[in-house]
Amino acid sequence: MSDRAVRIAIIGAGPSAFYAAAALIRQEDVEVRVDIFDRLFAPYGLVRYGVAPDHARIKSVANLYEKTASDPRVRFFGCVEFGKHLTLDNLRPLYDMVVFATGAQSDRSLNIPGEGLAGSMSATEFVAWYNSHPDYVDLNPNLDVEGVVVVGVGNVAMDVARILAKSHDELKVTDIADHALEALKESKVKNIYVLGRRGPAQAKFTNPEIKEFGQLEVADPVVKPEELELDPDSQKAVAGDRLTRQNVEFLREYASRGAGDKARKVHFRFLVSPVEITGDGKVEQVKIERNRLVSTQGGYLNCEGTGEFETLDAGLVLRSVGYYGVALPGVPYNKKKGTILNDHGRVLDDEGELLPGAYVVGWAKRGPTGVIGTNKKDAEETVALMLEDVKNLRRVGQPQDVAEFLKTRDCTPVLFDEWQKFNIAEIERGKPAGRPRVKFNTIEEARGS
Ligand code: NAP
Repeated sequence: MSDRAVRIAIIGAGPSAFYAAAALIRQEDVEVRVDIFDRLFAPYGLVRYGVAPDHARIKSVANLYEKTASDPRVRFFGCVEFGKHLTLDNLRPLYDMVVFATGAQSDRSLNIPGEGLAGSMSATEFVAWYNSHPDYVDLNPNLDVEGVVVVGVGNVAMDVARILAKSHDELKVTDIADHALEALKESKVKNIYVLGRRGPAQAKFTNPEIKEFGQLEVADPVVKPEELELDPDSQKAVAGDRLTRQNVEFLREYASRGAGDKARKVHFRFLVSPVEITGDGKVEQVKIERNRLVSTQGGYLNCEGTGEFETLDAGLVLRSVGYYGVALPGVPYNKKKGTILNDHGRVLDDEGELLPGAYVVGWAKRGPTGVIGTNKKDAEETVALMLEDVKNLRRVGQPQDVAEFLKTRDCTPVLFDEWQKFNIAEIERGKPAGRPRVKFNTIEEARGS
């Protein structure tokens, strides 16, 4: 029994799944067979459904994942949902090891009054909508509004603010969802307010992302010089870190430009927090409070309200304050962090004991931080532990092939060959308009093509 290949199931087909699969097939000590499952019909997770459509270069990493998926030791099964078609108990007799690569599918909330009003949503939903995620095709964000508030100053906030700020000409050459391209063409948005609760030196966006706002066709960045003033702790942070310094320098340059003459404005605001969203059945205004920074014992600069308020007119609020992982049925969960309970990638049960044969990679392991490439090292750490554990692994006897099992679950998976046909068809659909691809929104649309 031990001379057969080790069978490994990976749940989720985003970047961390493919980095784990690549690490597993790259090593030569243990012969492996890897099956990757995703509840969506298309592989690549956040590369397809998260990365902004105008960031085509970042998406090219999918070529590497395609190489991994094309290896004869690796199979892809799309349209297979963990918890519905397969559970951990189902997987146990089919696989020797299971790796969770399920990311962080939800988002954090603001917990302020009015957050539930129509027109208040998470940036993750908005991103999923413009990226053709099957679950968000019908989101229909109201763009018949002049003001939009984006809460948070991370890179997701930058993505949604930029997509809202770009012209039709800038967007029509991307792989943005057709429904979003049409809706954004008719957009009435004039003012996009991006709110940082702390100061410019604490902003989480990276240099290329803030730089892009200085080069948009129909939108000017607007920054209040007084909101760039740095307290002594922030001055130290700026002096000690080149990337932080560059962020602040971009903002200072925008502040020096004044308001500009383009039709749209992206207002970067700092040291302000939304405290209430108001409106008659829908978002109409956002009340914000000015903050001050306070130094905590650990050196972290926190913010606290000053009791000074201001109101912004806005018909749409996108909260972009971080992703959050949801619990998977039957899988131990760390509610505080929104991750699967684990020790460096080995899954732990609720008592902190190792759950044999179960592993986790990516955002489901460490939380929603880092860029796509961060998941490579993260996945390799877990794979190294898997290879260490394989020596003592009790392999399952005569496992049934999962393809047979899925037949009993009323599930017709999308295999990699079929995905490749969809991929080619999407690229063909884009050619007449000079776009990299026109995505299928749903499996029904893809199979009907
Ligand atoms: P993030 O980088 O953690 O940023 C979250 C932002 O929300 C921070 O500015 C944070 O402020 C703020 N925030 C949190 N709670 C808040 C609250 N209650 N009220 C107001 N503001 C609040 O998260 P993200 O933007 O979702 O990005 C997730 C990861 O994906 C990041 O590692 C990011 O770099 C990566 N990503 C990369 C790209 C790219 O490379 N182009 C694109 C998208 C995403 P505090 O700092 O004060 O907590």
